[in-house]
Amino acid sequence: MKFARFKRQHDETILSGIVTKNCIEEIKGDIFADWEHTNQLHNIEDIELLEPVTPRHIIGIGANYAGKTEDLPASAPELPVFFYKPTSSIIGIGKPIIIPSQIEEVKFESELAVVIGEKASHISEKEATDHIFGYTVANDVTAPQFFHEDGHWMVGKSFDTFTPLGPYIETELDPEQATVKAYLNGEKKQDSPTKLMIVSMRKMIAYLSSVMTLKPGDVILTGSPLGAEMMKAGDEIVCKIDGIGELRNTVKLHQLVEQS
Ligand code: MG
Repeated sequence: MKFARFKRQHDETILSGIVTKNCIEEIKGDIFADWEHTNQLHNIEDIELLEPVTPRHIIGIGANYAGKTEDLPASAPELPVFFYKPTSSIIGIGKPIIIPSQIEEVKFESELAVVIGEKASHISEKEATDHIFGYTVANDVTAPQFFHEDGHWMVGKSFDTFTPLGPYIETELDPEQATVKAYLNGEKKQDSPTKLMIVSMRKMIAYLSSVMTLKPGDVILTGSPLGAEMMKAGDEIVCKIDGIGELRNTVKLHQLVEQS
């Protein structure tokens, strides 16, 4: 099932829904607990899709894909490189990614994003799957120009608009059979099976749950395959996972946004 968050035209009320063929059926309640059908249908063309989830935590992992099966290490690193992204960096489909002033390009990173469905604290790898609600597509936008020489990534990962999420949360995806793709101005740049992840999704969830309590709605970005590149103002980036959908955003310069 695909879950969406959306607004109607000329109405600021945020609604939840499930995706049917060309429509979204509005639902009432909490998608992570109890919800009900309303039978109220909205045409996709008549609504504005928002980011499908509002997490308390967004955690990413660095350098988590091999280029091919033969390059996968025999064992995953004991302490993976995790980083934190602020919730203020989230945007939905169709919203512009803003290049910070002082620089002229930022990097796209198409990623499978896991949405937690049940509280997870000190769980095992085996238990991890039981705590997943579903999956969405993320673009872990990055300004490596702001990476500190001592290795700190926070600033370069944290600017407003640096975490596009969407378009939907799919609850029935098989994460081990998924393919993560990215198209820059229509040209395919990333195309990789999730099988090439170095630290498995289960391991990531179990590890993180030993550090912080994960709660429904929290999002873990599982890393980006090889092929991520820089984007400039005027570019259009589409991150895509078959079975979830396409996350499409444009890129703008900070100065132009301020003037408009
Ligand atoms: Mg990334």
